[in-house]
Amino acid sequence: MRPIQMVDLQPQYARIKSEVETAFADIIKSGAFINGPAVKTFQQNLAQYLQCQHVVACGNGTDALQIALMALNLQPGDEVITTPFTFVATAEVIKLLGLVPVFVDVEADSFNIDPSLIEAAITPKTRCIIPVHLFGRACNMQAIMDIARKHNLFVVEDNAQAIGATCIVDGVERKTGTIGDIGCLSFYPSKNLGAFGDGGAINTNSDELHQRIYRICNHGSDKRYYYETIGVNSRLDSLQAALLDIKLKHLDDYIDARTKLANAYDLALGQIDDVKLPKRLENGKHVFHQYTITSSQRDSLQQFLNVQGIPTMVYYPVPLHVQKPYVGVHHKQGSLPVSEQLCQEVLSLPMHTEMDNDQLAHIIKQVINFYKK
Ligand SMILES: *Cc1c(COP(=O)(O)O)cnc(C)c1O
Repeated sequence: MRPIQMVDLQPQYARIKSEVETAFADIIKSGAFINGPAVKTFQQNLAQYLQCQHVVACGNGTDALQIALMALNLQPGDEVITTPFTFVATAEVIKLLGLVPVFVDVEADSFNIDPSLIEAAITPKTRCIIPVHLFGRACNMQAIMDIARKHNLFVVEDNAQAIGATCIVDGVERKTGTIGDIGCLSFYPSKNLGAFGDGGAINTNSDELHQRIYRICNHGSDKRYYYETIGVNSRLDSLQAALLDIKLKHLDDYIDARTKLANAYDLALGQIDDVKLPKRLENGKHVFHQYTITSSQRDSLQQFLNVQGIPTMVYYPVPLHVQKPYVGVHHKQGSLPVSEQLCQEVLSLPMHTEMDNDQLAHIIKQVINFYKK
């Protein structure tokens, strides 16, 4: 049996290798490594996939979030509501821009920000909500959009883990990342659409925001050597764009493979009392960036599986509101109990597009064995 990995990218690459090599050879011959035609093509195809007006590719998902917030023209001290149960980038960019992260606890079953707690966190300084579609499952965007409209707040979706996921808003099935004002994507290699290095993208349906985002990515310039605003240097290079464009055609198949694996896990592990399965969406598509269970015996389960050659990961061991740079007036240990509890109990099992039946059977058997003891 091939050794089990959390994410195994080699067999996925084998299927597209010749196509990628041809595309890379063409770019190398052309010399258009930056802002070449491959970037424009990928942006167009991604916009079409997302069913969104505009896509601007950038350097990575963290940049995407930072540039999105820069485009909103927020003022230092403005407050941004988000979740403490996420990758650090979500909160980091808020702090980096002199804004104030206000963490709101999550729902125990979806792992996503709890909309019923958002309104209590809104103050006259609140300007924006950043929902994170964690592990590939959409947040309750209907409730979030209703609150945002009522209080006139921007919504920037951290869609780094959920490209291709959907949910129903105002009676229409929408792709995550296209519901709020701006969506942010990461193409970090292990993400559901992964590059051979760093990459990211920002999408919006607003012409005005699109112009500002494009400008900010390009040193604040529309015309070379003439500057309108302070920007950054953040771009996707042509080689990454060409690869991502090839993979994009297979993304829905990749999502199907993840879903099949999640279904098999659900079926096999659903009977174990101490295991809570990841909650599905009633209306919409979960894309299973991670397959994350909770268990009160999380640490010993992880150790046991590790001995059996089964890697697992804890995303995330400590919520952001108790981490050194983020403790503050709004948050301290004990103030967001659901997130704190989840950090003790979550465990992500191996999840990727190329898991074979022997590997899956081994993982399932060993999880069941652990709870038999
Ligand atoms: C991966 C990730 C990011 C950051 O993406 P990078 O491309 O690594 O900068 C941001 N938010 C979430 C939720 C992520 O999972």
